[in-house]
Amino acid sequence: MADLAESGVVREVAGRPGQVGRPSLRVEPVSESAVVVAFDLRVESTVVALVGLGGEELWRREQEHARAKYTAKVAVKNLLSLTRQALRRAPEDAAWVGIGIAVPGIVDHADGLVRFAPNLGWVDVPLGALLREAISAEYGFVPHLAISNDADLGALAEHVRGVGADNRNLIYLSGEVGIGGGVIIDGRPMLGAGGFGGEVGHMVVNPAGVECRCGATGCWETVIGRDALVRAAGLKKDHATVEDVIAAAASGSERARRALEEAGDWLGIGLANLVNVFNPEVIVLGGHLRLLHPFASDAVDRHVLTAVPAAREQVRIEVPALSGDSPLLGAAEAAFDALLADPISVIADVAHASAS
Ligand SMILES: [Zn+2]
Repeated sequence: MADLAESGVVREVAGRPGQVGRPSLRVEPVSESAVVVAFDLRVESTVVALVGLGGEELWRREQEHARAKYTAKVAVKNLLSLTRQALRRAPEDAAWVGIGIAVPGIVDHADGLVRFAPNLGWVDVPLGALLREAISAEYGFVPHLAISNDADLGALAEHVRGVGADNRNLIYLSGEVGIGGGVIIDGRPMLGAGGFGGEVGHMVVNPAGVECRCGATGCWETVIGRDALVRAAGLKKDHATVEDVIAAAASGSERARRALEEAGDWLGIGLANLVNVFNPEVIVLGGHLRLLHPFASDAVDRHVLTAVPAAREQVRIEVPALSGDSPLLGAAEAAFDALLADPISVIADVAHASAS
C-alpha cells in the first residue's frame, strides 16, 4: 500500500466523520493519477472518452461516420486521431495506462481480432494488431489494449457500477443496428469455448421471417434491431433512429405505433427465452432497447410470465444505470485491468516509456 501511495495511484483519507473512536484510514483511487482512453465503436458513430481511475469521465466526444466507408484502415486512423485529442485533455503527470474498445461484433479479446462484425461488414479484421502498430509508431510504446464485444463490456460496467452491482447473474443487451448480449454468471463473464458466447441477437425467434446479416433467417435482431424497427415503421429518411420511430408514433403514425407494439412482443418473447435458459437476476435493456422499454413493458411482462415460474420470479428487467454509456465505461474498466492487477509494475513501465 505504501508503494501504491508513493506512486500516486491511491491516497489514504480519514474514515467517515461521525465514526466513534479513532478514525480509520480509507484508501481511495486518485482519479487524475492514471487515465485510459475508452471507445464505443458503434455502427454509425464512435464515442470516445478520457476516463480517470475509479471510472470518472474526464472528457467525452461522439463522432459520426458513414457505415459503408468505415473500413479497418479508416477506423484505425480515426481511433488514433481521437486518442490524440483525448490525451490532450489528460491531467498533468497522469499515467496513460490503457486503451479500451467496445466493438459491435464477435471479438477474440486475447489479441483484438474482430472475427465477425456483420453490421460493419468486418470479417477477421486484426484491429488489435493494426492499432498496436499505429500507437507504437506515434508514441513509442503501447499501453494495455483491451478490445471486446460491446455487450460484454456493457455487462461488465453495469455489474461493477450499475444496476446489477448487487447481482451475480446478469444479462446486458445492447440495442444498436443489431442486438448484442453480454452474460455474467455467478459473478463471472460467460465466455464459451472461444470467448464468443452470448450472441443472443442471433437466437432464431421467427424462422418464417427475414434474412439476417449473419446469414440465418429470423434472428432476434431482425425483429428488434434498429433497422428492423425503422423499416417496420415505414420511415423513409436516411439514418432514421428509434427516436424517429417514437416521434412518428407520437405524432399519429399508425404504422410507427404498430412497429413499436410488434417489437415489444418480439422483445418479450426473446426475454422469456433468456429467463428460461440463464435464470438471471437482472436483464439490462441497453442501447435503443431502453427507449423501446416504455412502449414494450406490458408486452414484456406478458411474455416473461410464460417463462418457468421459479426463474421468472427472480428476474428484474431494468434499463441501464449508466444510460447509453455502459459499453464505453466497460471498455474503460477493461482498459484499467492491467493496472489493477499489477499497479506497481504498470506505473513503472509507463514512467519508463515517458522518460525514454
Ligand atoms: Zn443473425
